[in-house]
Amino acid sequence: MTPRDSVGARSSGPARHARAVRRDTTASNRPLGAGPGVAGVDGVTYDVAMSTHAPLTERETLARYEKRGGLLRGHFRLTSGLHSDVYLQSALVLQHPEDAGALGEGLAAPFQDAAVQTVLAPAIGGILVAHEVARALGARALFTERENGVMRLRRGFTLGAGERCLVVEDVITTGGSTREVVQCVEEHGGVVVGVGSLIDRSGGTAVFDVKRVALASISAATYPPEACPLCASGSVAIKPGSRS
Ligand code: ZN
Repeated sequence: MTPRDSVGARSSGPARHARAVRRDTTASNRPLGAGPGVAGVDGVTYDVAMSTHAPLTERETLARYEKRGGLLRGHFRLTSGLHSDVYLQSALVLQHPEDAGALGEGLAAPFQDAAVQTVLAPAIGGILVAHEVARALGARALFTERENGVMRLRRGFTLGAGERCLVVEDVITTGGSTREVVQCVEEHGGVVVGVGSLIDRSGGTAVFDVKRVALASISAATYPPEACPLCASGSVAIKPGSRS
């Protein structure tokens, strides 16, 4: 009884599969977009819609950070030794290409009409951001690195005279790194047409002469341990990603 049922089940499997294959063949012979539920949708239309009509809200941006553990609120000991009520680690978000792509498209959207040719970011944190923003804009992505303390283009990267550049970062805290990249671009004859970051934690203090976009702003206080009000209240700072 059981073996017979089992055999029957096996023999009906290929039959169902064959019918499914025939349906797939029929579907692929239909004109693109003519099938039920896909009218008006094709690859090109979808790409354009993703790039120009789906700006990411601040809430959506922060939700992606929180979902990946890239944004925590509490009492933290930062790598710098300072204590903070916010832990921010973009790499935890950008390790997921789907998130990196969505954030890149969101940051690219306000610059769609800026005729950006090249997107630049300071290594290491900005590299993936520049890459995804550049993908959405159909531009090149370069990164700068410090050499003897000076932000430079290395690895054979070059800029043409008058090349229209967008400078991006994952997080702007003081704006210092971004300003160094802007200066580097100008020294190579490029023109900076905008500055963008996924997150702005400068509290409004990082100001630039060009169009400036951040997908989200967060306020994060930092304190020397001896002056930390969270420690004073009896809480113990934790270092995310470690057991101490
Ligand atoms: Zn503390």
